[in-house]
Amino acid sequence: MGSITSPRIGELDASTCSLTRTTTPRDVPAPGSPEELSHSYCTDHMVTVRWTAETGWETPQVKPSENLSIPATAGCLHYATQCFEGMKVYRGYDGKLRLFRPDCNGERLSGSAVRSSLPGFQPDELKKLIARLMEVDGPRWLPRDRPGSFLYLRPAMIGNGPHLGVQVPKEALLFIIAVLWPDVSKVKKYGQPGAPQGLRLYASHPDNIRAWPGGFGYAKLGANYGPSLQAHGAAQALGYDQILWLFGAERQVTEAGASNFFVVMHNADTGRLEMVTAPVENQLILPGVTRRSVLELCREKLADRAVGGLAPVQVVERALTIGEIEVAAKEGRLVEAFVSGTANNQYFITPVELIRSGDVDISTLGASGEPAGYASLIKSWLEAIMYGKEQHDWGYVIENEEK
Ligand SMILES: *Cc1c(COP(=O)(O)O)cnc(C)c1O
Repeated sequence: MGSITSPRIGELDASTCSLTRTTTPRDVPAPGSPEELSHSYCTDHMVTVRWTAETGWETPQVKPSENLSIPATAGCLHYATQCFEGMKVYRGYDGKLRLFRPDCNGERLSGSAVRSSLPGFQPDELKKLIARLMEVDGPRWLPRDRPGSFLYLRPAMIGNGPHLGVQVPKEALLFIIAVLWPDVSKVKKYGQPGAPQGLRLYASHPDNIRAWPGGFGYAKLGANYGPSLQAHGAAQALGYDQILWLFGAERQVTEAGASNFFVVMHNADTGRLEMVTAPVENQLILPGVTRRSVLELCREKLADRAVGGLAPVQVVERALTIGEIEVAAKEGRLVEAFVSGTANNQYFITPVELIRSGDVDISTLGASGEPAGYASLIKSWLEAIMYGKEQHDWGYVIENEEK
């Protein structure tokens, strides 16, 4: 207890959250509507929380969705003082609303904020703020009679202070919006007759690097995206789905678009079946919540037993080169490849059919040419947790939905 210490500035505290209801609730557009396909249609309410260097976090507000008003001199518009999260809220088959491991996202957003010179916060508070928003908007925007549906959640933080001078942000805004999102997994099913077997990835050129040691590729910052979109667009124009980002002279495989990358293959020396993905320690990849969940589930369920006709597989986090993948494919040791991420276009887990590297096409379908068995098994595990078919610690239930 020190009366001479300076007063503590406010912590982020969701329990003080205020609510101002919209007086003009909108009709909820139907699944597949142009509004949903626009990727820009928000629910009736949003969360905002102001922060200043003097007072810390102010009272969070749930209020009618509106455009932000920020000075043209705001730091985020000039110096990329910005970070974000990508999450979903799921309407379960038991009628309940759930988030998937929201503590992980809270921790990551706070870490990303600090990496972009913005204020951190207690990770738990993000989950509580999202829950407050969905208590209000959940019942109408994710109705109980539509189990198996979801909304996309976008928590973000910006440095919105007016000082154009280059400095650490003295003001910030945390906001959370819930956006209608088309469920392409219901439309575009990979591996069905007549459909593609999976994503087609285009390996990045050496003169275009997403992330580097000492950089910020491990933080979820808008600054990682702007500079990568041109390559993404060029790959799409050539008929590919995503860039597979390579790093270094040895051409390490890091991740694909906004997804982490996995390959299942037999080890060249031991013959052992391994699921290999890039490590997080060198900070080149974004540590995906889905990635972490895939690794944890596979270590728990697949390390020493076969499941559904699929052989046991050992999870390995290590630097892996595109050359190794090419050789494994040639030698018939490659079994499958897939990507993981909340927002990737099949969401959570999508098989990969092909990697274009230089002028070589590497088929990642495995010797049998069969669709990815591990990917669909893992996807079914995750789906069961997200939609409450399986009660699991990773599913966080939003209890107090309004009537
Ligand atoms: C968000 C993101 C991912 C996937 O993270 P999840 O938490 O699994 O959704 C992977 N790579 C990048 C670059 C990302 O931005």
